[in-house]
Amino acid sequence: MNPWFAKAVILAANVVLIAIRAPHGQRSRSIKVVTSRKGTAETVLLTFMWVGFFIPLIWIVSPSFSFAEYPLRAGQLVVGIVCLVAGLWLFFRSHVDLGTNWSITLEVREQHQLITHGVYRRIRHPMYTAFFLFGVGQLLVLPNWAAGPSYLVPFAILFACRVRAEERMMLEQFGDEYAVYMARSKRLVPGIW
Ligand code: SAH
Repeated sequence: MNPWFAKAVILAANVVLIAIRAPHGQRSRSIKVVTSRKGTAETVLLTFMWVGFFIPLIWIVSPSFSFAEYPLRAGQLVVGIVCLVAGLWLFFRSHVDLGTNWSITLEVREQHQLITHGVYRRIRHPMYTAFFLFGVGQLLVLPNWAAGPSYLVPFAILFACRVRAEERMMLEQFGDEYAVYMARSKRLVPGIW
């Protein structure tokens, strides 16, 4: 299959990702941060995430990753597109539900509210589920062993390092309210984990 098809899908998915985040990100940043848990490890991992975000864009416009190219199969492309679309939908919904309580890192903002409705009703980290779906989608659509996993791998490491610290921070901030929420929700997959 023509790799330009994969390139168009990857470019469109990344443009939509940015278009969803930009207005919400701007809105949240106008609200004062009262607690920040952004350590050195978090800063380094976020930098890797940015690098991982740009690698597919470099793959689109340059032959730098041609050494790792493999032929794209139709089934893989279709499943990948389904994951990308599902990931982008969940990313959009979680930004809408989280509103101005969103932060790129571990932070509590002024008048921070605990969100437990919408896509937060059954899972505590729908935005991270969305990133996993997006990362898997990109891995499948992008037929390149080096550039394909560039988003999924740094995100999986960031998630593994962050999730417990984030839940601890939320417990300290919201106490029993978060403990009750934790008891009745899962982390990433409704009803499973
Ligand atoms: N882990 C969540 C949110 C990611 S954004 C998700 O995957 O959907 C990270 C910030 O969101 C954290 O710094 C924390 O301040 C905030 N946050 C996480 N869960 C929240 C919730 N249920 N309600 C309000 N804010 C939350």
